[in-house]
Amino acid sequence: MERRKLVIIGSGPAAFTAAIYCARANLEPLLFEGFYSGPSGGQLMTTTEVENYPGFPEGISGPELMERMRKQAERFETKILTEDVVSVDLSVHPYVVKGGTTQVQANAIIIATGATAKRLDIPGTRDNELWQKGVSACAVCDGPAPVFRNKDLFVIGGGDSAVEESIFLTKYGKKVYLVHRRDSLRASKIMAERALNHPKVEIIWNHTLAQVEGDSVVNAVVLKDVHSGQQKKLEGGGVFFAIGFTPNTGFLGGQIELEDNGYIKVQPGSTRTSKEGVFAAGDVQDHVYRQAVSAAGSGCMAALDAERWLSEKGLGS
Ligand SMILES: Cc1cc2nc3c(=O)[nH]c(=O)nc-3n(C[C@H](O)[C@H](O)[C@H](O)COP(=O)(O)OP(=O)(O)OC[C@H]3O[C@@H](n4cnc5c(N)ncnc54)[C@H](O)[C@@H]3O)c2cc1C
Repeated sequence: MERRKLVIIGSGPAAFTAAIYCARANLEPLLFEGFYSGPSGGQLMTTTEVENYPGFPEGISGPELMERMRKQAERFETKILTEDVVSVDLSVHPYVVKGGTTQVQANAIIIATGATAKRLDIPGTRDNELWQKGVSACAVCDGPAPVFRNKDLFVIGGGDSAVEESIFLTKYGKKVYLVHRRDSLRASKIMAERALNHPKVEIIWNHTLAQVEGDSVVNAVVLKDVHSGQQKKLEGGGVFFAIGFTPNTGFLGGQIELEDNGYIKVQPGSTRTSKEGVFAAGDVQDHVYRQAVSAAGSGCMAALDAERWLSEKGLGS
């Protein structure tokens, strides 16, 4: 079996940034970019305009930004395999990384498999319908876009992030409706009070989203009363799912310590996981910031942590 100094798993901003740094440090990284797990490039492949990634004053499309990152990683001779990692064996060292067809040994591993935003499969919200045409899963990323300005906006959820996103969106929307399927919020008391007291937030209790309507962009939502089943149509220009994320950690088979919410636990201020020589970067270990630039930043940290660890152990050359 081939033995590599470093294997990177993932293909978002964290993975490609880690690859750029590791390759320039002569670690000859092998990167599994995924196949069934999602498009190479990660979450930004599903978005149109990225306006908050530094260095692109005019904005840049998500796929183009990711194509550039991938090219930069390849320029420094990262070897990229278009395969999912299906499992790892961390009980032996060198560790074993099993892809769809390729199996390798690795002195160190960087996990950067990201997280998948949960979406509801509701008519009007799908990829070939109004997804990214007024339907989003990231208020911080998409909220400031002109399409949402001075429109009535709908946030779907009831936890802390739903409240946070609703309040964030009040800066742009005319009014923000927080649609929740129960009669009380799951959010912490202090967050719930912020929503309840905010003049531009109105909570629509005991309702679910039944449909999103529009031609080229969203212009209305249909909500359903969970008790009576009655439906009502409200005009509006945006729908934001705030129902959580699933960190992509299934292939780890419980060999790395996770937080209670499923994210990989890292030692504070570093990317070190519970397993020596295994590092985690990007959204798979970050349930707070969840931005491309913070993912890229932690990809850089993981590369430097891995490089130092490999050199301490004499495994980096
Ligand atoms: C709709 C939308 C719009 C957004 N817009 C912005 C924005 O404008 N600005 C901003 O800063 N942030 C934005 N974000 C957030 C940003 O995309 C994420 O914070 C960032 O992509 C996280 O990067 P990551 O490297 O951690 O991983 P991800 O981007 O999550 O990529 C990880 C990728 O790794 C691969 N993978 C997963 N499992 C495996 C496996 N087992 N084997 C191999 N490969 C695997 C998959 O391809 C996966 O997609 C947006 C997010 C969404 C959903």
